[in-house]
Amino acid sequence: MFLTGKTAIITGSTSGIGLAYAKAFAGEGAAVVLNGFGDVDTIERERAALAQASGAAALYDPADMARPDEIAGLVARAVAETGGCDIVVNNAGIQHVAPIEDFPVEKFDAIIAINLSSCWHLMRAAVPHMKAKGWGRIISTASAHSLVASPNKSAYVMAKHALAGLTKTVALETATCGITVNCISPGYVWTQLVENQIPDTMKARGMSREQVMTDVLLAAQPTKDFVTPEQVAALALFLCREEAKAITGANLSMDGGWTAA
Ligand code: NAD
Repeated sequence: MFLTGKTAIITGSTSGIGLAYAKAFAGEGAAVVLNGFGDVDTIERERAALAQASGAAALYDPADMARPDEIAGLVARAVAETGGCDIVVNNAGIQHVAPIEDFPVEKFDAIIAINLSSCWHLMRAAVPHMKAKGWGRIISTASAHSLVASPNKSAYVMAKHALAGLTKTVALETATCGITVNCISPGYVWTQLVENQIPDTMKARGMSREQVMTDVLLAAQPTKDFVTPEQVAALALFLCREEAKAITGANLSMDGGWTAA
């Protein structure tokens, strides 16, 4: 249990990739702070299971990643109730699919706030605590869309490219402080976020559900296979090991060969 005594805050961890991160960290003894939206009873069941797995604290904090004050509050609560914020994972994210001329401004603002600005606010709040301990791990779920574009995803691609730049910058600022800052860039992972965009993609491209699956989603991935949340979480866990302390400022692809093409 190599993370015993450490605390991991994972934004957007009530489902999908975020919940897989939480399970991986708790499985190695970390106290975890769950965040995100969803059914109250389901979240409470997940929280209790994580506490049992880790033998440490497991908190749930409903901070809205569109609200900088709530992000600062999330970090303050983790430090007050568990003693630190040693591992911070920027993972909360939303998607909207539309051509730029039809893209609702409020959807653009929400994607930039939740997928990008929240990462800056969370890093800003967490870094002083990490510096004080001389150890920290900042991991962000970017995307293959941090490296390449797809049509109809202007806000998402913009946010993810910028997140890769933020990662590099904060990695340089913290390079001598025992802190590493990296992002993981998955290809398509079968989660609710992908499920939700199928109807919009069907509409935007005039395709059937099956065509979206084969011609849009898996068309990009040479392996013709979805990435799993557990695979992404296993890489994040490795980044927390001492053996990974020289990996910083990296954008690590896990995309079935998508960005090699
Ligand atoms: P998901 O929809 O299963 O999870 C998203 C999480 O973010 C949920 O817990 C949700 O409650 C939370 N969330 C949404 N808005 C929030 C807000 N305002 N404040 C706090 N939490 C909020 O989706 P996922 O696929 O697990 O996505 C997680 C991350 O992975 C996202 O950043 C996404 O861009 C990225 N990603 C996903 C894929 C994929 O194919 N699924 C690929 C590459 C990158």
